Amino acid sequence: MAQRRNFDVIVAGVGTMGAAACHHLARRGVSVLGLEQFDIPHPMGAHHGHSRMIRQAYFEHPDYVPLLQRAYNLWDEVEETSGSRIRFHLVFRVLSKRFV
Ligand SMILES: Cc1cc2nc3c(=O)[nH]c(=O)nc-3n(C[C@H](O)[C@H](O)[C@H](O)COP(=O)(O)OP(=O)(O)OC[C@H]3O[C@@H](n4cnc5c(N)ncnc54)[C@H](O)[C@@H]3O)c2cc1C
Repeated sequence: MAQRRNFDVIVAGVGTMGAAACHHLARRGVSVLGLEQFDIPHPMGAHHGHSRMIRQAYFEHPDYVPLLQRAYNLWDEVEETSGSRIRFHLVFRVLSKRFV
């Protein structure tokens, strides 16, 4: 007979958000099961590809900035724990019409 296991949390979809959710829940000692319909990773999701851009310049609303700063710190943690360099600092300029 198949053995039953219980999990505190089941995450449906292990793409960008699901993988992060699984990672952070597991780090907190929560037993978590991630269910993915394809491989992890796979080329059919929004996470497909080799790079993503992250920036703190958000003209939409200043409330985004603390979230971005937290994200930078978390990416730094991923670099430390994985021993891989994954964040590269590049200079770019954002041009926008002044809204306020
Ligand atoms: C070409 C491209 C470029 C981008 N560039 C940037 C960028 O530079 N900077 C940036 O911040 N963002 C960028 N984004 C956006 C960012 O990649 C997405 O917002 C992010 O990956 C979305 O994550 P997600 O977990 O919602 O989706 P996904 O990563 O697609 O994860 C969803 C997962 O759920 C799985 N799933 C769905 N239904 C089921 C089911 N019923 N059962 C099991 N599994 C299921 C899917 O297979 C998939 O693996 C870009 C997106 C694209 C497509």
